[in-house]
Amino acid sequence: MYINVMAIKEVEAKSILRKHKKIDSWFVSCYGMNFYRGCLHNCVYCDGRSEGYYVDGEFGKDVIVKINAIELLRRELDPKRKRVPLKRCFIMVGGGVGDSYQPIERRYKLTRKALELMYEYDFPVSVLTKSTLVERDFDIIKKIDEKQRAIVSFSLSSADDKTSAIFEPGVPAPSERLKTLAFFKEKGIACGIFLLPVIPFVTDTSEVIEKVMEKASNIGIDFIIFGGMTLKQGRQQDFFLGVLKKNYPELAPKYREIYLGDKWGSTTKEYNESIHRIFDESATKYKIPKRIPSRLFKDILSENDLVIVILEQTDYLLKIKGAKSPYGYAAYSISKLKEPLSTMEGDFRKIKGVGKATEGIIQEILKTGSSSYYEKLLIG
Ligand code: SF4
Repeated sequence: MYINVMAIKEVEAKSILRKHKKIDSWFVSCYGMNFYRGCLHNCVYCDGRSEGYYVDGEFGKDVIVKINAIELLRRELDPKRKRVPLKRCFIMVGGGVGDSYQPIERRYKLTRKALELMYEYDFPVSVLTKSTLVERDFDIIKKIDEKQRAIVSFSLSSADDKTSAIFEPGVPAPSERLKTLAFFKEKGIACGIFLLPVIPFVTDTSEVIEKVMEKASNIGIDFIIFGGMTLKQGRQQDFFLGVLKKNYPELAPKYREIYLGDKWGSTTKEYNESIHRIFDESATKYKIPKRIPSRLFKDILSENDLVIVILEQTDYLLKIKGAKSPYGYAAYSISKLKEPLSTMEGDFRKIKGVGKATEGIIQEILKTGSSSYYEKLLIG
């Protein structure tokens, strides 16, 4: 592991909690936060490097620290200071354009202090990182889990240390990350893997994906979430292709065939479907849930959010099998409702996009906290 010579700039942020318009069913979260902008982990594929994120300075070397983050967060979490209380869901620590456990966290301890606040104010927390430094905070994560719930997840592109050294030069090897996950799992904390991004023609093969599943299954992981790699034109693409050409010169022409060159850095539908098919088959073989399972959140969310998340997850689980699904649209319509579903006296068909099958699923979720159809798809 190496760390670039870094430049740190401390700034006063205006706010910390990022509120989503509707609950995010990937993370089962309505709120995210970042204390650092820029990331010393310097992953070669990181889309934080792309111009669209407006991260100042040289990515991988320069980091902005929101020096007043904890003071702001206290104000944002404190129910006495809020007219509308925060929604019940996981508060997401991680993601975005800077790992919350990147090396400067050792010095600033903003993530640790934020976890202490979330414990104090009673929020469930989901941590996503690539750094084994998260183990430092086991004590506070355990306390959050005992009071509410905590999930610890690591993102991996593969389980292969050598490939990781090329594409993730600033983070502990996957074998180290998996050891840390095993540690949290042994201590009774729910753990997940975000197998993303898989790198086209390098870590997206069935052999590489299967290796991750095997290791995840040995640990007893609670879920694996999968995703491909975006490649936005400009800084992100130039940097990535430079490293790819140096290490895998034969692959660069193949990238031209699968990347569309749009502003999102998307791949073709065919490519996308093919990697999701591999993921689906492999996760099914190992019976690992392909989304955060409802047992980890059904007692946390409001009834509408619970229905939205389960319907969206069902939509995803059907689509990766190449099937059509009405559930995503129904979930979107439900996210616009002002009243709780249970006050509608079972008359769910008047919600746009809700047909007979969806109505049955909603009724079952309201009654039991989950849906048997969804539970089957989650591992099947
Ligand atoms: S750890 Fe995440 S935010 Fe940091 S460089 Fe890697 S992908 Fe980007």
